[in-house]
Amino acid sequence: MNLKDKRVLVVGLGKSGVASALFLKSRGARVTVSDAKSTEDLSDQIPSLLDQGIAVETGGHGERTFREQDLIVVSPGVPVDAPLLVQARALGGLVIGEIELAARFLRGRIVAITGSNGKTTTTSLTGEILTAGGFSALVGGNIGTPAISFVERATPDSVIVLEVSSFQLETIDTFCPKVAVVLNVTPDHLDRHRTVEAYVDAKARIFENQSGEDFAVLNADDPACAAMAARTRAKVFWFSRQKVVQQGAWVRGGNIVFRDAKQQYEVMLASEIPLKGAHNVENVLAAVCVGSLMGCAPEKIRQAVRDFMAVEHRLEYVATVRGVDYYNDSKATNVDATIKALESFPSNIHLILGGKDKGSDYSVLNALLRERVKCVYTIGAAAGKIESQIRRVEVVHAETLENALRRANAVAEPGDVVLLAPACASFDQFRSYEHRGQVFKEIVRGLAGEGEGAGR
Ligand code: ADP
Repeated sequence: MNLKDKRVLVVGLGKSGVASALFLKSRGARVTVSDAKSTEDLSDQIPSLLDQGIAVETGGHGERTFREQDLIVVSPGVPVDAPLLVQARALGGLVIGEIELAARFLRGRIVAITGSNGKTTTTSLTGEILTAGGFSALVGGNIGTPAISFVERATPDSVIVLEVSSFQLETIDTFCPKVAVVLNVTPDHLDRHRTVEAYVDAKARIFENQSGEDFAVLNADDPACAAMAARTRAKVFWFSRQKVVQQGAWVRGGNIVFRDAKQQYEVMLASEIPLKGAHNVENVLAAVCVGSLMGCAPEKIRQAVRDFMAVEHRLEYVATVRGVDYYNDSKATNVDATIKALESFPSNIHLILGGKDKGSDYSVLNALLRERVKCVYTIGAAAGKIESQIRRVEVVHAETLENALRRANAVAEPGDVVLLAPACASFDQFRSYEHRGQVFKEIVRGLAGEGEGAGR
């Protein structure tokens, strides 16, 4: 792709949008960026762009801006069916996302990881495993560093491990990972994808350009994910917590085992995994499968897994206050992640639920709520909907995180668990799930301090 003197529009000034604009400019393109936010809201981003001679349009998107471009790079936050993009495509313009742009320039092999839940955990762990196995691994994508920022650093020997979201996959064209992992497929983001089928279709695009030389790694325990095997030309490797697989990684008598057409070996004991919850066994199996496929030695894989710490805000242990354990799972922004969090503790849970609803059905939580939860504390905009759908559990309408924690702290007994796994997005009361998790941790630390102060 030759960018010299091409007119390129970058839509959306998130992290990947800014990185794309700077990259495009460095390759000689005539770059414009456009964002619906105001100049004031973008005051952190704009100076570095203007400095480079990039034209900036804020407070909306001008129709003409879209018409005069050779290439449009859209951010994952922008719906692919936005009228201006539909029109640009109709006029023959190429509309792609940042992942596609990066893929056209990156050297080395790409491992792409998607799924409804577990992407960040599995992507980080896969990076650690590959690094331990002696590879030069670059880890980013939907988490941390945008893929486009690796272009200058990557060499033909690099392995670029990318977390990719369904939104990012909607705007690929030639993107072809050497290894494509789909961890699970459960309804999420139905506010934007509208139907489960559309969501599955977006995820399945990860295989779209793969051939028989490439690998697809799929979850044999997740029916929707397993069904995707029929949609790829790549060699399928499975991971499973529950059954024996033909090729891939599974658990046999407490041991994690890998096999392919040529060999079979034990990697480690499942009990050595330092992360909580059965869902994390799945994440580890997926990462072990990728590491083994790439040729990492089993002992190196084992060491990397044993050394791996929970990623912040993912079922992260915070503190024990007067015998009560506090866990921050702010990243549990959908019902399935909340189910996994609940399944990680046998009983006596005080669960904080709520935030911005994503069109979810909270009634699927009912069985676990009755079995394991002492009390639910609802917060945020979704509280009313949640309260109307959950049954047979005590509910406190707490409104705020602070209030929820104070109420839980007042009644929780030693041995109980206070868990933030809200099943909702954060944007009604917080800037982001990270912000929500930080606030949770600060309040918990405050409670711990108060406990000491009172001499308890
Ligand atoms: P993602 O990047 O896909 O959002 P994370 O690793 O950030 O995934 O985890 C998001 C949430 O999902 C956390 O609450 C985490 O505890 C939970 N989770 C992690 N792995 C899985 C899994 N394999 N299945 C279901 N839930 C998971």
